[in-house]
Amino acid sequence: MKDLADAEGTDRVDGVDGGVGVTALLVAAARAIETHRHDALARDEYAEQFVRAAPASAGWPVRMRQVPDGDANPLWGRFARYFGLRTRVLDDFLLSSAHSGGARQVVLLGAGLDTRAFRLDWPSGSVVFEIDRKGVLAFKHQVLDGLSASPRAARVTVPIDLREDWVGALCDAGFEPTAPSVWSAEGLLFYLPPAAETNLFERIDRLSTEGSALAFEVKLDRDLLEHRDSPLYTATAEQIGIDLLKLFDRNPRPDSAGALMDKGWSTSVHTPYDFTLLHGRGPLPEENDALAGNRWVFATKPRP
Ligand code: SAM
Repeated sequence: MKDLADAEGTDRVDGVDGGVGVTALLVAAARAIETHRHDALARDEYAEQFVRAAPASAGWPVRMRQVPDGDANPLWGRFARYFGLRTRVLDDFLLSSAHSGGARQVVLLGAGLDTRAFRLDWPSGSVVFEIDRKGVLAFKHQVLDGLSASPRAARVTVPIDLREDWVGALCDAGFEPTAPSVWSAEGLLFYLPPAAETNLFERIDRLSTEGSALAFEVKLDRDLLEHRDSPLYTATAEQIGIDLLKLFDRNPRPDSAGALMDKGWSTSVHTPYDFTLLHGRGPLPEENDALAGNRWVFATKPRP
């Protein structure tokens, strides 16, 4: 299998054809499969279209019946179900922050091929900002324009690399720091150098007024290579040529949840398995588990 995700490619390829951008297709394929399950936790009718439109993923499965070993496949079974669960949990968090929490600005950091602006029922007056690298957003535009898709909230794309100074770009695009916002960093932080992650949270804190909320995903593993032989990593590399461990930044991670608490945010930290139990479906722990260190963190900046 051709390696779509070599470390150099991370910076050389700006779109979805390789480097870190191809991981957006991986999640889209997982969402396509989830969509077609009878017990889907989330449905995304656009996901399949992205997968089919990109040369890198055109031959990947988008339904479980196209996977020869079905649910037993570590990539399209367990890992895809993980993405389906994550999508649902963040859908619920973002929607409740908008409807009950009053946030009308939604910022998707590393948005990839996320179609929440099109799929979810946002309160009127909502704006969804999608930040990702230019080539990823260009591909997304091309596919959505071809489908004549119309968003269910105002949608603003902000093409910029999150290792750069993205605050100016977001504010120039209309983000208003004095109004409540809800943020997500889903499947993003482990690709960033630690300093970029620390800066990211400092900036989110500065841009967030009281009542704002944030959800993000971290990996707590001290040594990511501990699970390099896990079925999840090896199947992803062998079946679709994405070596996630080459794409992840393997430097020691900052304690971002702790940093937010120091700044006065209330945070709660969950394993994905907590939500598997809640929803009655999703991945469960296993031996040599590449998901063992994954945590989903939910934070709110309390009102005085
Ligand atoms: N959040 C989306 C989802 O869950 O469907 C996409 C997740 S995908 C695994 C990771 C995304 O992060 C990709 O779209 C990639 O382009 C983006 N990303 C990674 N590093 C980035 C950076 N330095 N700046 C902007 N986006 C980045």
